[in-house]
Amino acid sequence: MPFKLFDVNKEIPEREKHVYVKHCEDTEDSIDCNTSTVPGCMGARGCVYAGSKGVITGAIKDVVHVVHSPVGCTTYGGGAKRYPSQPKLPNGEVFPVDNFNLKYVCGTDLKESDVVFGGVKKLKQSVIEAVKEFPFATAIYCHATCTTGLIGDDMDAVCKELTQELGKDVIAFNTPGFAGPSQSKGHHITNDTIFSRMVGSKEPPKTTEYDICLIGEYNIDGDLWVIEKYLNEMGINILSRFSGDSSHEEICYMHRSKLNLVRCQRSATYIADLIEEKYGIPYVNVDFFSTEYCSDNLRMLGRHFGLEEEAEKVIAKYHGEVKDELKYYKEKLTDKKIYIFSGGPKSWHLSIPLEKELGMNVTAVASEFEHEDGYEKMKARVKDGTAILDDPNSLELEELIATNKPDIILAGIKEKYLAYKYGVPSIMIHSYENGPYIGFEGFLNLAKDLYANIYNPVWKLVEFEENLEEAQDEVLTTSEEETTMEAGK
Ligand code: SF4
Repeated sequence: MPFKLFDVNKEIPEREKHVYVKHCEDTEDSIDCNTSTVPGCMGARGCVYAGSKGVITGAIKDVVHVVHSPVGCTTYGGGAKRYPSQPKLPNGEVFPVDNFNLKYVCGTDLKESDVVFGGVKKLKQSVIEAVKEFPFATAIYCHATCTTGLIGDDMDAVCKELTQELGKDVIAFNTPGFAGPSQSKGHHITNDTIFSRMVGSKEPPKTTEYDICLIGEYNIDGDLWVIEKYLNEMGINILSRFSGDSSHEEICYMHRSKLNLVRCQRSATYIADLIEEKYGIPYVNVDFFSTEYCSDNLRMLGRHFGLEEEAEKVIAKYHGEVKDELKYYKEKLTDKKIYIFSGGPKSWHLSIPLEKELGMNVTAVASEFEHEDGYEKMKARVKDGTAILDDPNSLELEELIATNKPDIILAGIKEKYLAYKYGVPSIMIHSYENGPYIGFEGFLNLAKDLYANIYNPVWKLVEFEENLEEAQDEVLTTSEEETTMEAGK
């Protein structure tokens, strides 16, 4: 059977269908995914509002966010990922606050009485106050949350009215936390809202034959700027970014691109599909992680735009700068066991490069919110015996560490300190440590972080070993107790 039931899941057998162990003969079985977390599990997912504000709109640099919620969701929305932005806007003006998108979030601070009598008045008042506070903001984005979804405030109507009154775009994102099983639904709703409310509503100052939109690239720790540098050197112009280091305005003219590149294919293919359908602009899926994928994709773009020579020059220049150092890190990282517990597609983007270019041994991959197509890619890219987990929980990770101790885990903040407890280093793959991690120099940064974390002498401290031994004993005792109980039946 390709599915695995962890010992910790004996009381919740539904989890079995979410954990798949690759075996070359099992090609038909598909992993259960994109469904609500099994009750009883402490998952690591975000809510639908988190998928909207935390992933997509939170990267846009010149808008002010008003979260229509009690204070908790607003605070949650303030903890953005590391999405840096430059103050320059497409019209040449300079936005007055540096990294504005990482610094501010406003909320309506709903109380019990608003739940009873409705929160529309507070929403209007908060938007007007936000505009007074930040008059330079280009637009205002209003976010629904569980509370406002339940009380049923008509945010679309309020935002329409305020758009007229204030003379700038006020946009409602109807993303109550409970509107879907995970943040993935928030990505989808936000793609649809941005497409219907913004794309096609403005015209770019100028266009060229080499204009592209870079979709699903959020500029984590500067990733976008690495890709932008390569493309600019080839002669390709990024007309609109969706949505790292992006402005509200440039998203409004995505319909003038000549080709769309989709980087995160889980959170942003929706808008590429909609643009293709309405405006006939084709899109290609791209991958710039690692030297090989990056070279392949730059060559593909070179062929598309007739810029083959320019692509080769960029590849030779930037690959040349890192290749010797990468050899050193490959020697150090060969055979090191690694798990990739990412939010979405990095589990399949990175599995082959880590093995092929750094010699590592990927033995478990996981995602909080992937869909069936993403798991099919993971199955195709990992080797036999690798565990693939959908919506993993912390007890499962503990059991995996106890039974199959990895040398390092690529994961988020929720897994990081759990791994540390057992003497296992962990690198943040959602927000990075010393990124960027994309492109040639980015892959070298990742290799350096892997090396520095694995070889840190702190992991030799004796108490980590004790914690791990305790966890291993626990797994053994549980299995023995169960065998005894089975025998006594
Ligand atoms: S929207 Fe709902 S699930 Fe999301 S943070 Fe607010 S209360 Fe929690």
